[in-house]
Amino acid sequence: MYINIHTHHPYADSKHLEIPNVIVSKDYLTQTPCCAGIHPWYIDENFEKQFEALKIYVAKEGVIAVGECGLDKMNGPSLERQTMAFERQIELAIEVQKPLVIHCVRSYSEVLTSLMRLKTDVPVVFHGFAKNWELAKSLLHHGYYLSLGPLILKGQHEELVQNIPLDRLFLETDDKQVKISDIYAYFCHARKVDKKELEEQITKNFTEVFNYSL
Ligand SMILES: [Zn+2]
Repeated sequence: MYINIHTHHPYADSKHLEIPNVIVSKDYLTQTPCCAGIHPWYIDENFEKQFEALKIYVAKEGVIAVGECGLDKMNGPSLERQTMAFERQIELAIEVQKPLVIHCVRSYSEVLTSLMRLKTDVPVVFHGFAKNWELAKSLLHHGYYLSLGPLILKGQHEELVQNIPLDRLFLETDDKQVKISDIYAYFCHARKVDKKELEEQITKNFTEVFNYSL
């Protein structure tokens, strides 16, 4: 079975497990398992009200992670406001002991600072990771997980694809209209790994990290 760890357009397909990402106060929670968070682009004027809604979502059993949340220097409100919203969500994830799914654009050092400062003790998944192997290594060194998405299809992240430990890997389609099977197929071909082996490993990663039995 293919697991799509992060999608904004879940396909109805019983052969795949699609994990929708619910952006609180923008999307509705229509199916579980899902992730729910306050995306840095969509922090409401009334953050406290939005955060209360998130807390209700996150208390549900089928909401398996807090996120996507994080920092984005290219979009959204001030970095100060984004950091406030992000850190509140880190604290919430620690409180409920659910993993964090991170959106990070040009702010890796700031994201790491927040994660360290709050002594984050839940699994952390950087979603849509498409940076160089050096940065990947430093995130892996902290024990974090990386989820690779449609950007790897361009063939410009070969060092990352060749070297990422399979027990720290997830795959996703994010907001793109591609199929998760295409991402699996590409990864298997580029990495020269058997599809069955990859499916089993990602399923294992998923059940361990998200504490969710299939
Ligand atoms: Zn997303």
